[in-house]
Amino acid sequence: MGKGRYGKVALSAVVLLIVVVVGSLMMMKLWGGPTEKLPSAVQRLVIEEQMTLAEFGRANGLADAVVGKAFGLTSAAGLQQTLQSLRLSPAEITDRVNKTLAHVAEEGSKNWVKIAAKFGAWAIFLLAAFFMLKKRKSTPALRKGFLLGAIVLFGVILGSDPSPMGTVKDTIVLLGKSGIIFPPRLVALTVMLILGTLLANKLLCSWGCQFGTLQDFLFRLGRDAEDRTGAIAQTKVPFVISNGVRVSVLVILTAAAFGWALDLVGMVDPFKIYNPAVLTGAGISFIALLLIASFFVYRPWCHFFCPFGLVGWLVEKISLYKIKVDYQTCIACGACAEACPSTVMGAILKRDKTIPDCFSCGTCLETCPTKSIHFAAGKRERPPEGKFKG
Ligand code: SF4
Ligand code: SF4
Repeated sequence: MGKGRYGKVALSAVVLLIVVVVGSLMMMKLWGGPTEKLPSAVQRLVIEEQMTLAEFGRANGLADAVVGKAFGLTSAAGLQQTLQSLRLSPAEITDRVNKTLAHVAEEGSKNWVKIAAKFGAWAIFLLAAFFMLKKRKSTPALRKGFLLGAIVLFGVILGSDPSPMGTVKDTIVLLGKSGIIFPPRLVALTVMLILGTLLANKLLCSWGCQFGTLQDFLFRLGRDAEDRTGAIAQTKVPFVISNGVRVSVLVILTAAAFGWALDLVGMVDPFKIYNPAVLTGAGISFIALLLIASFFVYRPWCHFFCPFGLVGWLVEKISLYKIKVDYQTCIACGACAEACPSTVMGAILKRDKTIPDCFSCGTCLETCPTKSIHFAAGKRERPPEGKFKG
């Protein structure tokens, strides 16, 4: 690639990132209201057995509603009973109060209008992408348009939260830190898995995730005009390595949440590029590394770190729609595997035991000279014996 082309890629990336950061700052101001962040629920409480619940609430700065919820009161009269009458140990009282506080804070931290708008927009956008793939209409330009649209709509306009990654990560962290499960989060995760993975391989990651699409767009800025090979030298990391790191990250994240009440990913959460006001030095450095790496490795965050990416990879084994090969017409030229931005198409083609993440990006569909690749429902066939020898 000539120096001029490198300069053009770098300039486009810088302009995009400036638009993302400045636009996100402006949109966060416009949205105002609650910002999603995990509540810290641990409190040292004043507990004296003779206190009424009303006095206990006042001594600890707890609203009557919180006290009522913590101890399951059905009327205001219940506030007059003493702590002693509940027959609970101080540890149990503290636990109940903390869980209630965590629930209340979690509920109050949500911008429900924004969440509803995002889920509605995701449904429309993903269905449009789904039919584009099904009808074989994807092209490099259209894909870039979709990716850009997702970055602006789901990231700049609708913000860093909710995100597919956050839904998995926050469920683990909240359970580890506060011992609670927030039901709306589980509903969100279920909807994301159905719409974004069960319907078709990683549809949400590919076309709707605000950080996934940003990495993807940068990667494709460094590809040739046909979006087939890297105009910038690219590395396809073996899946066993990337997935090994991803599994380790999930184990460490879970251990830190349950063992030390820590949110390790929260400290460097790359989705916060869409909420730059809360970024820390560590967060900025990590995001910068990921975005630079995106020119050389396809979706580094998704492959090496993302908990939703890992869950999605497990669920995509039973996805309804997926990339399939028609071996009757396939001439085993390998063009699709070469054009695929990761190692997955090679594994699909030969029907390897382990199939890495397929992001339903459509590149292979466009590349196949005999149109033997389909985005279709049903199981993948096995290649005829000896088809890919050598
Ligand atoms: S794997 Fe990538 S695209 Fe999917 S949720 Fe995670 S960051 Fe987003
Ligand atoms: S196999 Fe590769 S090129 Fe084809 S849709 Fe999946 S990720 Fe894209």
